[in-house]
Amino acid sequence: MSALLHLTDGHVAYGKVEAVRSVSLEIAGNEIVTIIGANGAGKTTLLNAIMGILPLKGRVSFAGGDLARFEIEDRVAAGLSLVPEHRELFATMNVEDNLELGAFRVPRAQAKTSFERVYTLFPRLKERRKQLAGTLSGGEQQMLAMGRALMGAPKLLMLDEPSLGLAPIIVADIFRTIGELRASGVSVLLVEQNAQAALKIADRAYVMELGEFILSGQASEVAANQRVAASYLGFTHEGESAI
Ligand code: ATP
Repeated sequence: MSALLHLTDGHVAYGKVEAVRSVSLEIAGNEIVTIIGANGAGKTTLLNAIMGILPLKGRVSFAGGDLARFEIEDRVAAGLSLVPEHRELFATMNVEDNLELGAFRVPRAQAKTSFERVYTLFPRLKERRKQLAGTLSGGEQQMLAMGRALMGAPKLLMLDEPSLGLAPIIVADIFRTIGELRASGVSVLLVEQNAQAALKIADRAYVMELGEFILSGQASEVAANQRVAASYLGFTHEGESAI
């Protein structure tokens, strides 16, 4: 597999406390990879470190280049994008202006294409393009956060808990869009508490506990693992003991 993102022996610490330890991760082009794990396992920390928001110790390459000395803006320009857990939209700006901010580094012609692409993926955003972001529903805000990240035409989109706080019908919509992104050539690194939905859509999965990956493989294999089923999917596979 020729990796788009390749992290080897990654460590992230808050002061003396290591929140991520010895993590290695690969994501190929056109691939959806999920990281599942309990609250506090270190998933958000890892995404933030890959984005350059937190210092990452280890070797990390992206699209063939070494990311070590890249500032956040350089990582965005290289094709990395993060949709943070709390979405971080500009509440008093409208939908269109929030999207525009996601395109601040791309040429005008490309921004026009990006607008069309985002509005095709999320017709609801087009309908509400003059509405203030702060007045959108939770699902619409998640769509806007994803849309803004897509305005820069990323090669890899990292999503931190996109389903958090959303109704099941909206979650289904968001996950359908994630599948469409892969079909359009964007790789996705998906961090999710909703392990069932994440394992269903992902190609491969990593399971994180206490800052380390304890298991990885094809998403279907990970879903079939009895410990994963018991801890994250809420059931045991028939005839197997959870322990
Ligand atoms: P969640 O789904 O709750 O966000 P997570 O798997 O994303 O969980 P992280 O938020 O990455 O986990 O947290 C990993 C560990 O790092 C936890 O023990 C957490 O308490 C700690 N941590 C997170 N942010 C900080 C911080 N700013 N300062 C110190 N410790 C932190």
